[in-house]
Amino acid sequence: MRAATFLKAGEDLVVKEVEAPIIGAHDLILRVKACGICGSDLHMSEVHDSSGGVKPLKQGVIMGHEFCGEICELGQYTDTKFKVGDRVTALPFVNCGNCFSCLSGSGHRCSEVSYTGLGELPGGYADYVKVSAHETLHLPDGLDWNLGAMVEPLAVGLHSVRAAMLKAGESVLIIGAGPVGLATALWCQYFGARHVIVSDRVTERLGLAEKMGVTAVINADKENVIASFKKVVGARPSVILECVGVPGTQQLAIDYAPAGGRIVVVGVCMAPDTILPVKAITKELQINYAYMYNRQDFELTLDLMNRELIDPTPMITGNVTFANFPRTFENLKKDKVACKVILNP
Ligand SMILES: [Zn+2]
Ligand SMILES: [Zn+2]
Repeated sequence: MRAATFLKAGEDLVVKEVEAPIIGAHDLILRVKACGICGSDLHMSEVHDSSGGVKPLKQGVIMGHEFCGEICELGQYTDTKFKVGDRVTALPFVNCGNCFSCLSGSGHRCSEVSYTGLGELPGGYADYVKVSAHETLHLPDGLDWNLGAMVEPLAVGLHSVRAAMLKAGESVLIIGAGPVGLATALWCQYFGARHVIVSDRVTERLGLAEKMGVTAVINADKENVIASFKKVVGARPSVILECVGVPGTQQLAIDYAPAGGRIVVVGVCMAPDTILPVKAITKELQINYAYMYNRQDFELTLDLMNRELIDPTPMITGNVTFANFPRTFENLKKDKVACKVILNP
């Protein structure tokens, strides 16, 4: 099969023929129809050494964890609800399928978990990908392949907004208008936020947020974020979602929050960072961290997209085939306009 493989940091991915995955008794093999390019893939592919606490990828790794496809092979002991040709997506990990974590929907908490497309098991930048049958969900008929690839990033947003315990009528500040920030914006709107306001330093990214119908956007390079937020809402944000994940952004959230405010840190900062605890303490802030999602987040995302109650279409800014995939992947590292670009192998 063809796959886009990692060579080394600083060099383009290489599309080449590799061994197709070998099925296990509890697995399914999918023919990949769509696989989103994630910011974490771009980031992982740039890690040169372990000094920042993140391991560099090994040569030959196949990334891609935001995929959907058609079942083309079934393991011996997979559920009879699956058959060849079914359209599905899957949570990107393989695990025991039997422990409390797996059975309750948090399969990434399994002690035997291996992640798909994140440096361990081969991912969806390929013609075929192997998934756990018990982590696989059917795509409703109404969802096209592009939307199927959006389930994973939207589930990240949903999980974060759940962690924020958002109540209808609250006003939210989202720091960062990348795919994660925009996904959280979509969910805040769905769950009845009164005002959803997004800040970013890049004007083009803010344009996308506007397209998605947020109340207002703030260019953090040109405006005082809190002054601009207050101009619209009349108060500070009771909920702040930090969706950037670079040193300093957690402190910004603490500075912006009012007394009693709630912060969810979603952006994955992979470098040491410092915060000034006294500011968070004197405000008695609630600071939560959100990571990945569970199966219930996937299920709700699929259902609501199918019923057109949430629409991530504006987030999809491009499709690409293997022919121009390595170039597109590389260019995305500098691209300030693109949001979600999807590979259709
Ligand atoms: Zn992702
Ligand atoms: Zn398990």
